[in-house]
Amino acid sequence: MDLKESLSFFFFGNACLACGSSSQKLDPWLCPNCKEELIAYGEHPVWPSKEDAICLFQMNSLTRKLILAMKYKGMQKIASYLVAHSSVGRKGEALQILESWGKNMSFIPVPVHKARMRERGYNQSEQIAFELSLHCGGKLQKNILKRRIYKPSQTTLGNNARSLNVAGAFEAKNAERFKLVPQNGIVVVDDVYTTGATTSSCARALKRAGFKNIKVCALLYEFPASAAADMAADKKLGWKTELK
Ligand SMILES: [Zn+2]
Repeated sequence: MDLKESLSFFFFGNACLACGSSSQKLDPWLCPNCKEELIAYGEHPVWPSKEDAICLFQMNSLTRKLILAMKYKGMQKIASYLVAHSSVGRKGEALQILESWGKNMSFIPVPVHKARMRERGYNQSEQIAFELSLHCGGKLQKNILKRRIYKPSQTTLGNNARSLNVAGAFEAKNAERFKLVPQNGIVVVDDVYTTGATTSSCARALKRAGFKNIKVCALLYEFPASAAADMAADKKLGWKTELK
């Protein structure tokens, strides 16, 4: 556990992030019951509207609490925890799908803008991509995609505005260097897949740069219709409420 995570324990207490129970041994964020529930949720990947994209979990009350802690409370190792307890980490269906996409795939995280990176201190998609590369035997490639311009947080926008916001927001760089390495394909990695606008924009940028066989893997799938309501709820719920 690193310093940030230790501080989080100090502030939020040694309680299960999902149910709030402090009576049982945690490993390190969930009690045994919630961990079992998480594993059951991750047994089958979710297919969003596109055939070349999978998500490891559905967004629900349990996974939502974990991803909020990961994104906003400095607990970036939750990304590894979620991947490890998905059917990628447990050598199930999702791992078979990723392996069927190609050998030694490059895992390219959706980049965050520098300003967001400074504020948060890490890119959670990078952590997810790294973890996927460990389980699938591929490689994390974190310097290929970059964001063109800073835009307001996605959480303040509706679905249509969100699609427009990310259209053309990315470009692929270091393409020449990347092409020197024989690759069988690319997996664009994001934390939450809602409309697919962000990962599609990344895939377009990679195609423009000459890359082929581009797939998408996100940690969580959230139905577009429920995303806006959930985001509004996030704003109303303080963290103390959310964690209890
Ligand atoms: Zn629990």
